Amino acid sequence: MIKFLDVGKINKRPEIKKKIDEVVESGYYILGKECELFEKNFATYCGTRYAVGVANGLDALRLIIKAYGFSNNDEIIVPANTYIASILAISQNGCKPVLVEPDISTYNINPDLIEENITSKTKAIMVVHLYGRAVQMERIYETARKYNLKIIEDSAQAHGAFYNNKRVGNLGDASGFSFYPGKNLGCLGDGGCITTNDGFLADRLRAIRNYGSLVKYHNKYQGVNSRLDELQAGILNVKLKYLDSDNEARRKIAKLYRTEIKNPLLVLPEVEDELSHVWHLFTVRTANRDGFQKYLQENGIETVIHYPVPPHKQPCYGEFGNMHFPLTEEIHRTIISLPISQVMSLDDAGRVIEVCNAYKG
Ligand SMILES: *Cc1c(COP(=O)(O)O)cnc(C)c1O
Repeated sequence: MIKFLDVGKINKRPEIKKKIDEVVESGYYILGKECELFEKNFATYCGTRYAVGVANGLDALRLIIKAYGFSNNDEIIVPANTYIASILAISQNGCKPVLVEPDISTYNINPDLIEENITSKTKAIMVVHLYGRAVQMERIYETARKYNLKIIEDSAQAHGAFYNNKRVGNLGDASGFSFYPGKNLGCLGDGGCITTNDGFLADRLRAIRNYGSLVKYHNKYQGVNSRLDELQAGILNVKLKYLDSDNEARRKIAKLYRTEIKNPLLVLPEVEDELSHVWHLFTVRTANRDGFQKYLQENGIETVIHYPVPPHKQPCYGEFGNMHFPLTEEIHRTIISLPISQVMSLDDAGRVIEVCNAYKG
């Protein structure tokens, strides 16, 4: 069986075990030198002035919105086809997610549809670099400037991707990252981070993630408990060094898939600028998606659907129940993710290509 993703294999590094021992023996587990070092390393990597470690990706996004003080039905624009966490981060702050259709050739928000969704309540645009592909920012910058909106990036799937020589995480006012084990940079549990060039925001976030306190037992804000622990930060310090080469390995497989899968029944992802995509997921669309998934399974290839149900059709979002987003619905009906990772062998990729090309529908 060709696994969709083998995180056990990805984390099989003696260096990680050594780091875990080191942290255990240090006797210091929360907000210590590993977290501080990771924040420095990750900010440098992204090209931002600041990085603030938090407990997970959802919190990263949620705390950005909280730190800006958006609430009370303030509106935030967000792509309708994103993973639900982007939208939860908005609604859990008492804000209104304003869903906008994607561009079906990029799967990212359609910049031409943003302006018509702006009202006097709009405070921010949340862009999501979905599947690992950096959003084309130019039109979004224009719109944000025109209406004085913040740009929040959901970079949970795109660690290391570039847009015009700048990395994801450094493309807006603040960016949320997740280090969930399956992400391109993943830890061995939950972890997250916020990057920004805004020193005032970074200070606020440092307080908010730690009970609203910068000085122990003195609480400036009604904060939360959302910290990146020393074990996870230590592991991330080890793994960050390999992120660029890991992404290169993914690009190699994506390139093989894109040049060698030739089957009119499958719509492959397109990309002009190789560096703009880090291939967190390699998705294809096909009319009989469930049949295709079963066919791959029978041929020893594991796949995953990202995602089977769009957020506006989820039971938790009854208020969106009678809205229609035809492109989003089409994507969710037809999309499927093929195996890809930095530890996948080229032989296995070759086998996936062969089986895809033999698919008759
Ligand atoms: C994974 C993910 C998140 C949330 O990250 P967690 O660490 O699981 O909370 C947010 N947005 C997107 C697009 C994601 O893929």
